[in-house]
Amino acid sequence: AHPDEVYTERTVQSLAHMERARAVMPGGMTANIKHYAPYPITINRANGSKFYDVDGNEYIDYLMGYGALILGHAHPHVRDAIARQIEEDGTWLFGTPHDREVTMATRIQKYFPSMEKIRYANSGTEANLLAMRLAMGYTKKYKIAKFEGHYHGAIDSLLLSIHPPKSDAGDQEDPQAVPDSGGMAPDAADDTIILPFNDIKSCARILEQHKDELAAVIIEPMEGGVIAPKSQFLNQLRKLTKKLGVLLIFDEVKTAFRSSMDGVQGLYDVTPDLTTIGKVVGGGFPFGVVGGKSTIMEQSSPLHGTDIFAGEGSRTSQKALFHSGTYNGHPLILAAGIATLDVLEQEYDALALRTDRFREELTRLFQKHGIPMKTVGSGAMFSVLLTESQEINHYRDLQMCDHDARKKLDKALFEAGVYTKPGNRYSLSVVHDDEVLAKTLEAYDRVIPEVLR
Ligand code: PLP
Repeated sequence: AHPDEVYTERTVQSLAHMERARAVMPGGMTANIKHYAPYPITINRANGSKFYDVDGNEYIDYLMGYGALILGHAHPHVRDAIARQIEEDGTWLFGTPHDREVTMATRIQKYFPSMEKIRYANSGTEANLLAMRLAMGYTKKYKIAKFEGHYHGAIDSLLLSIHPPKSDAGDQEDPQAVPDSGGMAPDAADDTIILPFNDIKSCARILEQHKDELAAVIIEPMEGGVIAPKSQFLNQLRKLTKKLGVLLIFDEVKTAFRSSMDGVQGLYDVTPDLTTIGKVVGGGFPFGVVGGKSTIMEQSSPLHGTDIFAGEGSRTSQKALFHSGTYNGHPLILAAGIATLDVLEQEYDALALRTDRFREELTRLFQKHGIPMKTVGSGAMFSVLLTESQEINHYRDLQMCDHDARKKLDKALFEAGVYTKPGNRYSLSVVHDDEVLAKTLEAYDRVIPEVLR
């Protein structure tokens, strides 16, 4: 049968749902994420490491809420913590200071000592917005440098050169700013400098050129959460930015408590000026955190400068740096996040070991079938790359992988009940046990000869 026929036969209800959805949402979806062709499936139930579509098909879930669900779906410890929080506090929103804000900050600092002071936001995107404002306020410089291929959320000045077409991207050593979205002002790229990952020489040249205008360098210290920095790259970047008077921001939204408990900064022993985290630490709820050097963070204290809500008459030129949000420090989200860290502290090491073993077994399986493949990643997250290349250092190396074969494989796996993030990143959880991983390997063993030979 035509591959799409197999797909449509088993997802009849998903298609019916998509037709209703398209009447009320652009493309029938509330985010323009990638999905399996010819239409996405609709999920309506989950249990631990699995979820189920509206046709009743079961999938082993490696999407795990884009990495946020490191304990799997509805872990009982988190569910109890949420119920207890509502019971004890009598509400789910105070809008004032409360106890869990301090508890969470202390828990985060145990693993991220660089986050000397902490502020809460509602997403990774918001956390990065605040980090940039803090950097600009502190340095009184107003440009940002980011890396080609790195994603920091839907912020115009950072939504650049994430997936630039080769024709516009410029030389590898001198990448150009290319907007990743329509609807951005023509000057959206004017205050952003693009850097090449894992190439300290080019970074030094470019940063030297722009140092007088640059507030900060923002980086996914493990590119895309999976491509490792060369052993000295982050250290060299730390030294370089310090020398040039440019702040260094680590975006660890994907990697904190997933690539390792203490993030990529822990793995490589590098101290950024500011760090943003999200996903896992929100226990599956909308959350973002900014933290860093006290002197930088304190700019947002209402004790400094003028109370911005006090009215026109009281304003002076020295304003506190604006940071606000109706839901900042939401008690329910903090309860879920703290409960997640409780369990993770006990189970992370075993999860990381299980993930490593799974990666090794997958690699052996591909070897058995004679298909070139490599995994990249760390801790409880990795990607499967169909490539003969041993060195994957950069977004542009990823472009050399066999994406058509990858797509065919993803779809065949999907039909065998294995759901990955299309484009293929695996996020494991503590409830992805040996049985579930063995089932995944069996599915691979079946579909590799079907679609890759
Ligand atoms: N930064 C990184 C590295 C991310 O991976 C993401 C989301 O995938 C974000 C920022 C944006 O986070 P959010 O989707 O919570 O706004």
